[in-house]
Amino acid sequence: MNITQKRFVTINKWALIAAIFVYLMGVFTPLKYLQPGLLFALGAGFFCLLHIPYFASRPRVAAHLWLFALFVTAMTSTVPLDKTGEGNNLLLMLTVLNCLIPFLLLIRGNSEEKAPKKRRLKVVTFRTVVQCGVFMIWASVTSFCFIKGTRPDLLFWAMFHVFTVAVFPVFIGRVLCGWLCPNATMQDALYKNMNYKRPIENLPKAIEEQSNTCAMNTSGNVDKRAPLVPATLLMSWFPMFFAETVWDLTPVDWYPISFMYGLIILSLLFKWRKLCTHFCWLSSYRCLNGHNSLWRIRYNKSKCRNCKRCLAEAACPFYINICNQENEMPATCCLCFSCMEACPFDDVITFKRAPEEKARLKAEGKAQ
Ligand code: SF4
Ligand code: SF4
Ligand code: SF4
Repeated sequence: MNITQKRFVTINKWALIAAIFVYLMGVFTPLKYLQPGLLFALGAGFFCLLHIPYFASRPRVAAHLWLFALFVTAMTSTVPLDKTGEGNNLLLMLTVLNCLIPFLLLIRGNSEEKAPKKRRLKVVTFRTVVQCGVFMIWASVTSFCFIKGTRPDLLFWAMFHVFTVAVFPVFIGRVLCGWLCPNATMQDALYKNMNYKRPIENLPKAIEEQSNTCAMNTSGNVDKRAPLVPATLLMSWFPMFFAETVWDLTPVDWYPISFMYGLIILSLLFKWRKLCTHFCWLSSYRCLNGHNSLWRIRYNKSKCRNCKRCLAEAACPFYINICNQENEMPATCCLCFSCMEACPFDDVITFKRAPEEKARLKAEGKAQ
């Protein structure tokens, strides 16, 4: 079978959706069962979809990721994560099929897709591995807590909020929105690749316009794409806070897991990462705490050829128009490095400011 890029995406997309479905079925229904191999199936699906240009031209390499998940399933068939320790044959079989079908389709496939000319950036591969790993840890911790009826994850969530909202952004901006957030991993892998017309293509004009009154305006460092603090607070933080407090939801087992899957469903309604830009309160706080972060990705404007390959929506999850930046990425940037990879020139979007750029900034009296 000829595996075109479209076919590659379709196989992996449906295999991943099936894995999420089996996961939900195991965790949310009275079956209370999760096969550890399914976590690796989730990892395989995400990794393939976050690395489409690389794997679409190498379907047999991608097939081995699914084979690995199958191997883990076989090795753990007698040690499922469940309440009774007796396992569940139906869910075991579904897990096996979930790994076996994409493996068989991909291993027999040939691809005429050409490998991308620009090599994969190591930092993007590293980011993808971190994203998939964190997703697998998140899925196993929350399902473990749900199945066993305990909440050791509360400590994780407390530390997560302290470090990712208050501490990390001061040093390295919104890196957690690009590297760690499970919701971001799902949106980047699944929803970016779903090209149907969204029921809510555009948010109400008032909200879209308000997103220009951004967090960074408070410090005079204008970033027109920064998420909107007031709307975010009004629309998500206050109702969530209200519900959490009034109904005391935090200790409830299903709360963290259903919260995340609620976001999956909402992602079906909106465009890629619109949930992040307009509704996530963590996003606003990270922008606020990170607007003077110690390090940002550099944009060497003096070397930019204006080819527009990095244009928002094609590359950037936060719709940043890179060519409009002065010399580095704004606080909205989640350090995903996708723009660095999308740019065909090696010396425009960089880790360190180029000497020519330093000279330009000095000449323009903007020395940094
Ligand atoms: S903005 Fe919110 S949902 Fe989006 S990546 Fe950041 S923390 Fe996750
Ligand atoms: S500016 Fe670049 S690194 Fe930052 S979020 Fe956009 S694509 Fe990612
Ligand atoms: S892809 Fe690179 S060269 Fe082209 S407009 Fe973007 S930053 Fe400039």
